[in-house]
Amino acid sequence: MTAKSAAAAARATVYGYPRQGPNRELKKAIEGYWKGRVTADALQATAAELRRNNRQRLADAGVHEVPTGDFSYYDHVLDTTVMVGAIPERHRSAVEADATDGYFAMARGTQDVGPLEMTKWFDTNYHYLVPELGPDTVFTADSGKQVGELKEALAQGLTARPVLVGPVTYLLLAKPAPGVPADFEPLTLLDRLLPVYAEVLADLRAAGAEWVQLDEPGLVQDRTPAELNAAERAYRNLGALTDRPKLLVASYFDRLGDALPILAQAPVEGLALDFTDAAAANLDALAAVGGLPGKRLVAGVVNGRNIWINDLQKSLSTLGTLLGLADRVDVAASCSLLHVPLDASAEKDVDPQILRWLAFAQQKTAEVVTLAKGLAQGTDAITGELAANRAGLASRTSSPITRDPAVRSRAEAVMDADARRSQPYAERTAAQRAHLRLPLLPTTTIGSFPQTGELRTARADLRAGRIDTAGYEERIKAEIQEVISFQEKTGLDVLVHGEPERNDMVQYFAEQLTGYLATQHGWVQSYGTRYVRPPILAGDISRPEPMTVRWTSYVQSLSDRPVKGMLTGPVTMLAWSFVRDDQPLGDTARQVALALRDEVNDLEAAGTSVIQVDEPALRETLPLRAADRDAYLAWATEAFRLSTSGVRPDTQIHTHMCYAEFGDIVQAIDDLDADVISLEAARSHMQVARELAAHGYPREAGPGVYDIHSPRVPSADEAADLLRTGLKAIPAERLWVNPDCGLKTRAWPETRASLENLVAAARTVRSEL
Ligand code: GLN
Ligand code: ZN
Repeated sequence: MTAKSAAAAARATVYGYPRQGPNRELKKAIEGYWKGRVTADALQATAAELRRNNRQRLADAGVHEVPTGDFSYYDHVLDTTVMVGAIPERHRSAVEADATDGYFAMARGTQDVGPLEMTKWFDTNYHYLVPELGPDTVFTADSGKQVGELKEALAQGLTARPVLVGPVTYLLLAKPAPGVPADFEPLTLLDRLLPVYAEVLADLRAAGAEWVQLDEPGLVQDRTPAELNAAERAYRNLGALTDRPKLLVASYFDRLGDALPILAQAPVEGLALDFTDAAAANLDALAAVGGLPGKRLVAGVVNGRNIWINDLQKSLSTLGTLLGLADRVDVAASCSLLHVPLDASAEKDVDPQILRWLAFAQQKTAEVVTLAKGLAQGTDAITGELAANRAGLASRTSSPITRDPAVRSRAEAVMDADARRSQPYAERTAAQRAHLRLPLLPTTTIGSFPQTGELRTARADLRAGRIDTAGYEERIKAEIQEVISFQEKTGLDVLVHGEPERNDMVQYFAEQLTGYLATQHGWVQSYGTRYVRPPILAGDISRPEPMTVRWTSYVQSLSDRPVKGMLTGPVTMLAWSFVRDDQPLGDTARQVALALRDEVNDLEAAGTSVIQVDEPALRETLPLRAADRDAYLAWATEAFRLSTSGVRPDTQIHTHMCYAEFGDIVQAIDDLDADVISLEAARSHMQVARELAAHGYPREAGPGVYDIHSPRVPSADEAADLLRTGLKAIPAERLWVNPDCGLKTRAWPETRASLENLVAAARTVRSEL
């Protein structure tokens, strides 16, 4: 191979594209189908047209090889479950009766059967449906969807490459089916699964696939020698097949580490590797194994999960290095473009100055094409694009939005003491007890109350101009009054205002902070038909004025009982936004933390004695590799403490976490130094209480006794039993009584009944002390 011939052959590709369509047509069609308003035929027609348009858009942009099979009605891992025939027992009859309805039954459950569990796709905000496997699982090949979508692309006259979840990652993402011992390892099914992949690969080849991509992001996490052996065996086995397309094994989101030499030596024809900053180590690692002689390398140099323009010059230099390391080097985004919105140019409200810094799926595709062209034809062929890119980058670097001297000097002046309360917990707690005078086992809730139809109507009326701000605020006040009087009547000890004024716990603050940017159309898939519009941390963050003080003071005026001030913590503000790529995450977190610190202090000054700073995302942003975790947790916990340490000893700081198992972050929870933490625990029967106790967690905690993810009303007996279990781990002086999470997704009737039972349970158990 010569670098020159490798360069001349360079082409552009991507691994996947946003599925929903420019106006979220897919969401509307699917939800219409669920409601019986859209027929199965109409749904399929909409989906087929969206797929066709996506492929055509990619091809027109200059993508040489378009992906297929990345489309999904709900989730590509669920599609893989269908492809390998791993339908859970409880869904079989639904799937046999009707494939589409059965598919949605697995995704969402029905009256009679529960859905598959849903969890986050690596460290993204996309959620996949967890395969349920056991020793009795029988795999059977169903290549229909993959073959069908490939044929659609070929019929359009395009070069297409089917993209599949690889067999190793599929098994690594699976969990033991219900009834199967918890220590069952799905990876032990590999030898049973590989023949099914072999069949699918043969079908794809027969249908005309030259290349097939097998995604193995599971290999960018820490893997045991046994797991690495399995990966080696999988690709030795698939590589040895005779009736198969060429195989491209892809990884992304982090460095491959020990898996890189294994894949480099596997008998496959190509590797697709992430070369963005998060996975920069891949470059040296690839050189260290002598490159990929005789193979195709697909270089993910355009970040597929942020929304910033690429540094094209820097990418060209990376690509230049890579040219000497493989027979053919193609250019790609680092991962599927599923994780970014569709088109930045649709953002008419964004300052044009900032707009040129942004790249969504469409712009990223153009960058990939430009880089491939530059590689193949020389940089002279892309001088215009390079100049525009340089200007965009320069405008970002020099913008006062990016660098606010006041924010920077304040962040630089932060000292260790700023992130520490003025007194240790043992002393603060006495002051707080005297100040708050709460009973043992105090009752509270997490913040939000049911977001009723009336509230949504009020927001829609405000947006449409049918009511003015004053009219809107009247409706919010009425809602708050109802929430407060319900809590007083029910006998809760520490009240909340219910968060009716908040559309979303991150967006609400993002809209009020300078440096944050909102989008109009920046939807990305969270799961199924749920799309979110994460705000963009575009520049240095500051708080022009108090954000919640006015509402909180109003609320406190309604009751003699303490009402919690309610804020979203710095880590969660980052986790559910698009973050900056031009400074360490810890620096951005510190800026957000300082803005929140001012808010916390202002709340205290306005008379708020209990302030809750939610960090539900602390666990989910944990780096994929264990070696990177301590550094993350250090800045994450420091940011939390920085936001909460400016208060008096007798002001009680609460925090809240959910969506997670907490076993591996108990030390970090401790490091937050919050006075009280509420945690999701009802489904795991207070597991977290035992974990905190085992760690010697010294502060107060409220493991949830009411599972808010279900409309089911827990009885007072049941809640009391959970409390008694909690008391075995946490002494009564430090145990709180609360639900698992906020109540905004619940309806009023079950909320009312459940909270009445929760208070009754607390009273019963108090009387037993
Ligand atoms: N305070 C928020 C609420 O109650 C917390 C939400 C969350 O943890 N995701 O809605
Ligand atoms: Zn929660």
